[in-house]
Amino acid sequence: MWKGDSFLKELYEQTASRRALENEGRAPDERKQRMKERLESSLGEFNLTGQGQVQPKLLERIEFADYTRERVELSIVEGLSFGAYLLIPKGVPGKLPGVIAVHGHGYGSRQICGMLADGTPDPGHTDIYRHFALELVRLGMVVIAPDVIGFGERALQSDLDADPESPSSCYMMSAQLLMMGKTLTGLRVAEMRGALDYFAGREEVDPSRIGIAGFSGGSLIAYVTAVLDERIRAVNLIGFPNTFKDSIMAVHHCVCNYTPGILEIGELPELIGLIAPRPLFLESGDRDPIFPKRGFELAAEELRAIYRDAGAEDRFGWDLFPGVHEVSGRRSFGWLKQMLQS
Ligand SMILES: [Zn+2]
Repeated sequence: MWKGDSFLKELYEQTASRRALENEGRAPDERKQRMKERLESSLGEFNLTGQGQVQPKLLERIEFADYTRERVELSIVEGLSFGAYLLIPKGVPGKLPGVIAVHGHGYGSRQICGMLADGTPDPGHTDIYRHFALELVRLGMVVIAPDVIGFGERALQSDLDADPESPSSCYMMSAQLLMMGKTLTGLRVAEMRGALDYFAGREEVDPSRIGIAGFSGGSLIAYVTAVLDERIRAVNLIGFPNTFKDSIMAVHHCVCNYTPGILEIGELPELIGLIAPRPLFLESGDRDPIFPKRGFELAAEELRAIYRDAGAEDRFGWDLFPGVHEVSGRRSFGWLKQMLQS
């Protein structure tokens, strides 16, 4: 008789026990460092363009009443380039805090910067992303919103040829990268860290006050970037924090969520906990069907304990807002600004 369900459950428990056993007797700092190194190596390596080898290119600059929007082209990983929007508040003197705003599945950075897929203004309609990059710039922070590979104009031509409305190239990109010992998360994080290099060098931005905010798949990129790069001073994860067990292992998710061997390193709350003691805020809709409430609450409780142990409970917050798989920002955006204030 087939008993696949109980077999997988047992395997999950065995993996958790093995993790606990491996960490026994290790000092917290050693355990944390080891987890970071293993996380980084699980993502695979990419060849980066050397600093200064490919100059950022200004593609567009548009003045709005309360902010300036630039579009720049960056090249971080050899052989690839991409666009990113910069939103710069007007009338605020001095160097400002900066936020990297990371979109997930959808049509790309335009979806969070007030535009439709073709770049024309979105006439007031706000979808699940609620144009959150615009909300952040209107709070007085400089924002960079890079186009994440695999979405919108960064979909593979082969996918677009097969279906011009192709929602993403996650499947084909992930499948091929996995066969070469790499992951799509690794590629996306490498580009995000390169975008951070560029952003930190912008004259409008205070490099010691840079945060990151991501929604859904963008939140995955945001947390890994923050874990691996200490220049990120505050983190806002939206529509993603959960346990692996209750979300991506329980619901059909895009293949870009799956990293080989990740459970050998940690469950999701432990991995997000590597950001501690830097400020962290979690946000989720109470009716989100793909990152369910139960897993969010478990993750929030575990992360609260991690922050308490690190003596940083005041730098941790969470909000379970009334909603589905969507951005709220009702508490998190003001919190992010406050954390980057000084
Ligand atoms: Zn995906």
